[in-house]
Amino acid sequence: MSFTLAIVGRPNVGKSTLFNRLVGKRLALVDDQPGVTRDLREGAARLGQLRFTVIDTAGLEEATDESLQGRMRALTERAVDMADLCLFMVDARTGLTRQDLVFADILRKRADGRVIVATNKAEGQAGEAGFYEAYNLGLGEPVAISAEHGEGMDELRIALTPWAEQF
Ligand code: GDP
Ligand code: MG
Repeated sequence: MSFTLAIVGRPNVGKSTLFNRLVGKRLALVDDQPGVTRDLREGAARLGQLRFTVIDTAGLEEATDESLQGRMRALTERAVDMADLCLFMVDARTGLTRQDLVFADILRKRADGRVIVATNKAEGQAGEAGFYEAYNLGLGEPVAISAEHGEGMDELRIALTPWAEQF
């Protein structure tokens, strides 16, 4: 009973922060394809009783606006194809951006319903509007988390559990 979760979303929403929290030091191998090693990190995740593989989509932070769109799309599609399930992360504090909508579109076309939306940076009250706004993505009920402060981890575990049982 094990599954692979890809954390996807635009730069700076907190994907790597969550990855690091889930993996700690248990980093595993990545793909040996050139260019992929740098951009997709894989690790052995722990969340309560759950054990799974998690993929972080990185390497987009330095891209220019022009190159970003295509690279994000390619990398995200690759992560989606590798994963059983996608955690689509948005920033609860900034609310939805145009880039978020591009990601939502990729996931709608590619992930075939295998998506959980997480509204990150939701510690305190600041993320509340962003949480409700995320329902508008049409990708199901969001989970409010704070990757940095470790809030919402139990809710995240509960959201993942039915999927864990499926694989
Ligand atoms: P990524 O580009 O999606 O991988 O995002 P990072 O994990 O690198 O985080 C981007 C920024 O958001 C960093 O400055 C983090 O410290 C910050 N960040 C991540 N998670 C949280 C959170 O839960 N709350 C707040 N307030 N900031 C966060
Ligand atoms: Mg990152």
